[in-house]
Amino acid sequence: MTGTEERDVVLVGGGVISATLGVLLSELEPSWTITVVERLDAAGLESSSAWNNAGTGHAGLCEFNYTPRRPDGTVDPTSAVEIGEQFLTSLHLWAQLTERGLLGAPGDFIRSVPHMGFGRGADGVAYLRARWAALADHPLFAGQEFSDDPAVLARWLPLVFDQRPAGEPVAATRSAQGTDVDFGVLTRRLLDVLAGRGADVRFGQEVRALRRHGDRWHLDVRDRRTGARRRLRTPYVFVGAGGGTLPLLQSARVPEVRSHGVFPISGQFLRTDRPELVAAHGAKLYGHAAPGAPPISVPHLDRRVVDGREHLLFGPFAAFSPRFLTQGRLTDLVRSVRPGNLPTLLAAARDNRALMAYLVRQLRQTGEDKIAALAEFVPSVRAEDWELVTAGQRVQVLKTADGRGSMVGFGTELLTSAGGSLAALLGASPGASTAAATMVDVLAASFPGRMAGWAPQLDELAPAAGTVRGWDADRLAATVASARAVLQLTPGGDPA
Ligand SMILES: Cc1cc2nc3c(=O)[nH]c(=O)nc-3n(C[C@H](O)[C@H](O)[C@H](O)COP(=O)(O)OP(=O)(O)OC[C@H]3O[C@@H](n4cnc5c(N)ncnc54)[C@H](O)[C@@H]3O)c2cc1C
Repeated sequence: MTGTEERDVVLVGGGVISATLGVLLSELEPSWTITVVERLDAAGLESSSAWNNAGTGHAGLCEFNYTPRRPDGTVDPTSAVEIGEQFLTSLHLWAQLTERGLLGAPGDFIRSVPHMGFGRGADGVAYLRARWAALADHPLFAGQEFSDDPAVLARWLPLVFDQRPAGEPVAATRSAQGTDVDFGVLTRRLLDVLAGRGADVRFGQEVRALRRHGDRWHLDVRDRRTGARRRLRTPYVFVGAGGGTLPLLQSARVPEVRSHGVFPISGQFLRTDRPELVAAHGAKLYGHAAPGAPPISVPHLDRRVVDGREHLLFGPFAAFSPRFLTQGRLTDLVRSVRPGNLPTLLAAARDNRALMAYLVRQLRQTGEDKIAALAEFVPSVRAEDWELVTAGQRVQVLKTADGRGSMVGFGTELLTSAGGSLAALLGASPGASTAAATMVDVLAASFPGRMAGWAPQLDELAPAAGTVRGWDADRLAATVASARAVLQLTPGGDPA
């Protein structure tokens, strides 16, 4: 082990979450020494990589899981508005940095793609209409359209309505405010900003152990190529290691996670780049989740642009791998089981029967079953046009609450320990889209004494979701419009 290096801040992991926090801290405290430690040879190669997630800029425009139905048939818009506010924080930050010439051409990481909801059957159409009505008056959802007119639907969604049998009631909503984001490119641009400000961004180095000694965190870092070991010492550590987060917190014996368990699920998508199919579908179209299915499994058919090439993506389908990172270890799952979390794992299996049954059904799906699921969206589908690709790993967090085991990791959860000197993000979606708002929350939880001083700068750069909530309709609309103009998010027309 070589000598110990002192840092003001250490960020573990080079994904979009750490990159966002690093840039915010470098704005607020330019004199602080910041080190980012990433185990792979480049940034944004795990969950933040373009093909490891669906690239949806989650803003509540089309995802039904944010708009539950009330018993009286109306729809509760609260969560959709919250996600919309959080996404605006991200949009605002990206626009501010772009305006200052720091993120390069915005079209490399964000594009305008309409977000659409797809309601099927009389009940699905009634839900979609109620959803549209519940959101119609809110400025973040301005301009959202609803239609159940077959001619309009065929114009909005040519691929979806090609060869669709008549007779089933169908409807769609359409928002021109939707986006497709390449979080991998964004991550690399953010870390370039950080490195350009003098931060020490290290690749190919893995944090192997984390320990608290006195008022400092000690991190043992190993170079994966040479095996050389170094130690970092810091008063503040953020663990943004994606699937690697819980194992590191376990190694640090963080009491808050003693009984937490984890369960890895990987995602798969069907993908095509056939030009005639891509040309006939220019949206992200979200449908209803299957009974018992978790929100992450809501089926969607998306136009994606990655590395300048256009594709369609359909899924996700759940698959199983015992690794916690796509480039993790086969032993990850086994090594995570401890006496302290075994009861949680057993209780989660016992108390989530519908979810377990859904996962087993997903894992047993054949290639033909997956094409049949796609045929619900694209009746004219030909299997030979599509390939099955494996996306990122989700490490779902399992907890026990009131004696019941629950899988809570379908959202993201902010964890702090040792008086806020350690912070970590657990769980998956919609983490990338809401990274800026969540990292402002991390700052508030970790540095409560500094927030009053930082507030004016944060309000300019990345206003907290709570701040956004206080804005009137005119301010909201103006902020959205100016961010979209800077990011060159000009809605395109319908597909030909
Ligand atoms: C199938 C799927 C679809 C998704 N779709 C969307 C979507 O459409 N929209 C959206 O907003 N979000 C989506 N998400 C969620 C989104 O991808 C994540 O919230 C986000 O990428 C998480 O970023 P992160 O920085 O926390 O993790 P990551 O990008 O995984 O970064 C963590 C980094 O830490 C590194 N690391 C791990 N352990 C160590 C260690 N010990 N030492 C050093 N480095 C370490 C890893 O190599 C990795 O680079 C999706 C996720 C999945 C799995």
